[in-house]
Amino acid sequence: MPHPHPAAVVASGVLFEYPGVRALDEVSFEVPAGSVTALVGPNGAGKTTLLRCLAGLERPMLGSIHVAGVDVLEEPRAVHRRVGFLSDFFGLYDALSVARCFAHAAAAHGVADADIDGAVQRTAQRMGLAGLLERRAAELSRGQRQRVAIGQALIHAPQVLMLDEPASGLDPEARHALARLFTQLREEGITLIVSSHILAELDEYSTHMLVMRHGRIVENRALEGAVAGLARVRLAFAQAVEALEAKLAALPGVRVLRAEADAAVLELHGGAEAQAALLRALVQAGLPLSEFALERENLHESYLRTVGAAPS
Ligand code: ATP
Repeated sequence: MPHPHPAAVVASGVLFEYPGVRALDEVSFEVPAGSVTALVGPNGAGKTTLLRCLAGLERPMLGSIHVAGVDVLEEPRAVHRRVGFLSDFFGLYDALSVARCFAHAAAAHGVADADIDGAVQRTAQRMGLAGLLERRAAELSRGQRQRVAIGQALIHAPQVLMLDEPASGLDPEARHALARLFTQLREEGITLIVSSHILAELDEYSTHMLVMRHGRIVENRALEGAVAGLARVRLAFAQAVEALEAKLAALPGVRVLRAEADAAVLELHGGAEAQAALLRALVQAGLPLSEFALERENLHESYLRTVGAAPS
């Protein structure tokens, strides 16, 4: 029996080469269970190759990979049952109806015969395809095909879902629905790894950021604001406040990240109670507070900082 690991993904020293190209250069990292990890990096960084290795679709030359407690190199078939994977350039069985596509994906991922119908209906509902179940895949729009492909990747209720550019080809409404779906899947305890070039979208639902460049991981961390017990608070004041930074720094449990004459960003430990106490303290200190807003770290800025700082 595979030994379950608290991390959903553990990769160690993974090396993968195409002829003449080292796509993964001894990559090591962990992805916490229950997280949504944004996999980002410039074109050619190795994101697709990494996802394919994690999903057991490519075999690295060196290293080890465990996903959902399964040793991917030892038991690739067991991985396929626990993992869902959406390829960046997927194909559908064009001659099959959406219902048959889903049923086929369910069977291929090890869903028992008796459970297939239920899984097809649930997935169609979830992906907004219930009205199109009898339509042939060839007769779907680009965005509808994308939704079928995502449905196929999650029909067997995988523990880990990996999606390579899932939002490409979707209209803004469908993108928004996808962001909602990812949040919902995370709440159900599924670990997600999502690669995308559209960072603003990843920002909506990601808890962690994994940055690749030249076949290496250059950053792997939780996004601030997504970490329990650590909040960033943006303050604005109706007028300039004299010695604002010193006044804020004197408040308990607070670190001042930025302060101007009439605005500041603070970091605060301790969740909602601490935020309430901070708000009270600011008002009691007689400061002309006009805005008190929780701020999440901006994935886009953070990514550009990381990639900008990494040696090329
Ligand atoms: P993108 O953001 O452009 O999709 P990526 O981060 O997904 O890029 P990969 O597709 O994993 O990057 O490619 C990593 C490296 O491996 C690149 O240098 C690429 O040229 C090379 N590569 C990818 N697929 C092949 C292949 N089938 N044969 C040879 N080289 C390949």
